[in-house]
This record gives sequence, structure tokens and C-alpha cells, in this order.
Amino acid sequence: MVNLDKEVQYIKGVGPNRVTLLNKLGIYNLKDLITYFPRVYEDRGKVKKINELIDGEEALICAFPIGRMNEVHIRKNLALYKLVVRDETGTCFITWYNQPYLKKQFQQGTKYKFYGKVNFKYGKIEMQSPVYELEDSQKNTGKIIPIYPLTYKLSQNTIRKIIENGLVEVEGKLEETLPQYMLEKYHLYDLNTAIKQIHFPENFEKFNLARKRLVFEELLSMQLALLSLKNKYEIKAEGITFSKEAKMSDVIDVLPFKLTRAQLRVLEEIDKDMESMKPMNRLLQGDVGSGKTVVALIAAYKAVKSGYQATIMVPTAILATQHLESFREILKNLGIRCELLISGISKKKKEDILQQLANGEIDILIGTHAILEENVIFKNLGLVVTDEQHRFGVRQRSIVTEKGKNPDVLVMTATPIPRTLALILYGDLDISIIDELPPNRKKIETYAVTKQMEERVNAFVAKNINEGRQCYIVCPLVEENEEINAKSVTELSEFYKHQIFKNYRVEYLHGKMRPREKDAIMEEFKNGNIDILISTTVIEVGVNVPNANMMIIENAERFGLAQLHQLRGRVGRGEYQSYCILKYQGNSEVIRERMKVISSTNDGFVISEKDLELRGTGEFFGTRQHGLPEFKIANLFEDVEMLKQVQEIAIEIINQDPLLEQKEHQTLRKLVDEKFKNRIEI
Ligand code: ADP
Ligand code: MG
Repeated sequence: MVNLDKEVQYIKGVGPNRVTLLNKLGIYNLKDLITYFPRVYEDRGKVKKINELIDGEEALICAFPIGRMNEVHIRKNLALYKLVVRDETGTCFITWYNQPYLKKQFQQGTKYKFYGKVNFKYGKIEMQSPVYELEDSQKNTGKIIPIYPLTYKLSQNTIRKIIENGLVEVEGKLEETLPQYMLEKYHLYDLNTAIKQIHFPENFEKFNLARKRLVFEELLSMQLALLSLKNKYEIKAEGITFSKEAKMSDVIDVLPFKLTRAQLRVLEEIDKDMESMKPMNRLLQGDVGSGKTVVALIAAYKAVKSGYQATIMVPTAILATQHLESFREILKNLGIRCELLISGISKKKKEDILQQLANGEIDILIGTHAILEENVIFKNLGLVVTDEQHRFGVRQRSIVTEKGKNPDVLVMTATPIPRTLALILYGDLDISIIDELPPNRKKIETYAVTKQMEERVNAFVAKNINEGRQCYIVCPLVEENEEINAKSVTELSEFYKHQIFKNYRVEYLHGKMRPREKDAIMEEFKNGNIDILISTTVIEVGVNVPNANMMIIENAERFGLAQLHQLRGRVGRGEYQSYCILKYQGNSEVIRERMKVISSTNDGFVISEKDLELRGTGEFFGTRQHGLPEFKIANLFEDVEMLKQVQEIAIEIINQDPLLEQKEHQTLRKLVDEKFKNRIEI
């Protein structure tokens, strides 16, 4: 049997340098390597005629050189090599830069294949830096070539070669992960064939079969894991029956606004759950700004008035602080004590809080991951709320719930996903949806602009600030590296601060700062003492500053649509007309389509559906944004049908063999265990 844990440094072709680069891609061992699936494939098999070429496409042609290679020295160190080639339908200009050895490569009267990107320029057809070979050679063309996602400094050729070497090691030796009967019943490739064909498919039919098998396995193990989890809840002993006397209306009556119908409906569902004996496991979905916080607050009130404690877990200190303020404001006359637990507070303060929590003096604890720590002990935790669910995994959720005795659980997310999908993906939860925004919200005007518009954008920002408003400027994450992000944010803000907006108050915020610093700046921004706040996506979730009516997003093309929508939700919270300006670079079809979608609608459901559709399998803009499980190969948009089928299969299996104990299900048991073990967040 092959050792799939074998470290990647022992694979042929991988030196220390490449180990680091591979690690960056999340590839540590042989298993990671062979499951690093291609993003797309180039069909270098089908020769096109020159007169069939389309501007912008990558294509393969087969043609004769006409005349000799032309060499032009544009400037020092820059030489252009031009070759004119022709087939029976037309002429194409092939260009390369700085490759003098090419001069001797081509013979007149011999046919070559060229594969590269086609450009139509000044009425001519051009192909730039193509790969090429003799007509009957099959090395670089003539087959389907895998293109891998994100490779940083590894070239496609290099990673392809490394993966090829990895495949040689496992060839025919992979242990089957699905039961034999399943392979037969559903006509699935065995694992060895699937892995080989997914990387280097002989043809597209085999690719499709390979993909089908791998998607099937991935979705099935996710479904089985979810159902096992649900089983676990249901087997669980009695939950808490919260008191009918603790009335949600006590809070509703003192709110400064009228709840929407959707909020009321959702509260009714929660109320019912809380009063029943069964522990609540409910997902609350609602678009950004739909008012989920107040729902959590009202539920927490009910828990407290029934004699229990409640906790709200949120992903950032800023958000926790903000929630604390609004909770205290609303609950101030109702005799309820709320406290904050984040890693930034002093040791003394923390000790006090832990003690008061343990003896029951604190009713509602709002905090970050700090709540997960072992020494955080509640007297009688009755309700657990996690806000912005996509930042937490199932595991973290269960750590908190274990701090109580079968407490009720409410999971909140701003990521609207189509209901059918939600039912399957959150198979372990009941679902409530807030599908209505509070009244009088103005549509956030969204514009996607290129570099040329920069000055106008800046002038627009200045004008709004002069009228008393405030502005966010958001920079993208670079390679998920906080160090670099901090730098790019600092650099950009220096530029804005000392040049563009030197007459305004500009500050910045990034993930590397200490929580206390961050809070101080956020506080200043909230109080209107900062005009422009530059930041990374730390402000993505939940922050509420109604006077800020503009958001500028730098390099918007690097964000996923769902994330842009989340970010945009920071504005449009007050009485002012709000604007979101997306500065983008690049001219690809997908980028333009994304920009079009986000500018044309404010409906989170539409956006998330589009996002699923536009996002290719395994693309950089991770599923993490959706709070959906991360898939290596499945694509929830393309594979919805398969997902439905697989869910039925999974239900059947679990009904018949809940703990996957039967002999024929041993492989499945293993898959599920692995899902839990590898912190793959289901
Ligand atoms: P999200 O669902 O994104 O977490 P929030 O709970 O932060 O949204 O609510 C956004 C804003 O809307 C807050 O300022 C909140 O006080 C306000 N809000 C919530 N519900 C209502 C309502 N029914 N009417 C008016 N404003 C509301
Ligand atoms: Mg929120």
C-alpha cells in the first residue's frame, strides 16, 4: 500500500525551495499533492483553422512559417521576434520576446503546431509566446493539459511535472475509498482511474467520469458526516424548557423601532423552539442589515428571564464591542448584566469576568474565540448564539455548547444561499430566514470603475466628507498574509493621508493591530472624529456606523461576490444615500460579469446564486465566504443534481446503519472520520 502521508519533499523533483511553495498551496504530503485538482483544462488537441480563430481565445493552429524570423530590438534588453505563419485559410503573426534561440528553430516548408493566446490587432491575427512543436509531436500539444489553480511562483509546467511524479508513485496502488457495491450500482470509476484521469484525462469523456466519481465521494462523505452529527443531536438527552413567563414582548416594547414582519416570524419560531423540550438547533439566515442582532438579543433575554445565561460568539473584537454597546443600551432598564470577553482585556478584568460568569452574576456574555477557552465556565448556560457563522466551524460551535447542559443553539449567518441548497448543506439545523429589510433603507448605489476614474472618485469622496459624511476604504488580502496586508494598508493610507486627502482625518485599521488599538480607532470613527477609515476586511462583518455613506473597495476583482456584498453592507445604515465604489483591474469576461452583478442588485440571494455560478471549481475566491463547506472538487452550482442524489443515498445508508458499523460501510466510516479529523468544516 502506498504511504499517502509521505512528505512532499521526498517526491521526485521537489527540492527545499519547492517544498515551501507547495506548502503555501496547502500541499504537505503525497495525498495533498494528488488531490490538488486542476482548475481548468486546455484542449490542445483540436487544431483550428486560422480563419476560425476568435479574439482572446487560446487555440491550437497548425501552419507553415513564411519567410524568416524577424528580429526587432525595441530597446536595450528588449527584443521582439516575429514569425509569420500560414495555413490554407489565413495568416497569423507569431511573436516572442527576448528568445534569440528561436531564430534557428523553424524551417521553412515544415509544418508546426502553435498553441497560445490569440489577439486581433490592427486587422491582423496575432499569437503571443505560444508553445510550439512539430506537427506530429505530442509533447506540449495534442492532448488535454491540466491547469492548476493558484500556483504562486511555481510555473504550471513545474507543478504539472511534480504531480505527474506523485501519480507515478501511487499508480494502481490507491486503496479504494467507496464500497465496491456502490461503484457498480452508480457506475463510478474506481479511485485509481479517477485520480489519474482527473489530472491527465485522455479525453473529455474520461475526465467527466473521473470528476463524477470524485464529486460523488466528496459530497457523500460530507452528507454522511452531517447526518451523523444530526443523529448525535437527536440522541442527545433532554434540552432546556424555557419559561412561558419570560416574554419576548418585554424587549420588543422598549425597542426604538418596530420589528419587521420577518423578524417577528423568526422570533416566533425561536420562541417555540425555546419553550419546547428539544434542544434548539436553528440557523438564522438574513441578508446584511436585515436585523439579526436584535433577534439574538431578544432570544438571550428570554433565556436570562428563564433563569439561564446566554452567550453570543462573534468573529471580531470590534463586533463584540459593538454588540455589547447595543445590548446594554436596549437592556439597560431590564436588569440584565452583559459583559465582554475578548483577548484584549486586562488580566485583572478577565479574572473578574470569569469569576462572575461562574457564579452567575453575568447574564449575557458577548465575546470572540476567547469564549472557547477552557477556563471560561458558565454557571448555567442556556443559549448559545454564534454570529457570522461562516467564521466558525462546527467544532467550535460544539466546544461552546458543551459549556452548558444541552443548551439551545442559534447560528446566524448573513450569507443567503438558495433554500434548497441550505436544506441540504445545513442538514443538521432547522432554518429561519429574515427575507425583508427594515423599512426606508435606500439602495446602495454601486459603481464599478477602472483606474481612469480615480480622480473623480477622490473628488466625490471629498465632496461627501465636506457635507459631513464618512468613508471606508477597503484593501484586499494579499496571499492571506497579515504581514503584507498590514504593509499595503499602511502604504496606501500614507498616500491617502499625506497626498490625496491631506486636509482630512485619515486613519487605518488592520488585523495585525492590537485589539485595543483597533477598538480605539473604531470608536473614533464611530464618534465622527475620523473622516476616512482605511482597512483590510476586518471591517467586513457587522460594524455599524450610520454616518458612513461611502465605501471604496480597492482591487475589487480580488474579492468574491458574496464578500463584496458583505462589505458593502457596512454602508447604507443611516438616513443618507450611500455609495459603494468598486475599483477594479483586469478585463476578463468573468471580472466584468462579477462587477455587473454586484452593481446591478442589492439582493443577497441573487448575488450568492450568481457567485456560485461564476465561481469555477476550486477557484481562489473560496467557498469559505459562504460559510459552506470547502470542497476540493465539487461545485455547488454545477453539482446540485448530484448533491440531491447523494443526499438520498446518504439518508438511506444512515437509516439502515446509523453508526456505519456494517462491514460494507467500513470505507465510508473512514471517510467520515477523516472529515471530522481534518477539521474540514462541515
Ligand atoms: P445584521 O442582520 O446584518 O446583523 P444588524 O442586526 O446589525 O444587521 O442591524 C442593522 C441595523 O438595523 C442596526 O442598526 C439595527 O439597530 C437596525 N434595525 C434592526 N431591525 C430594525 C427594524 N426592524 N427597524 C429599523 N431598524 C432596525
Ligand atoms: Mg450582524
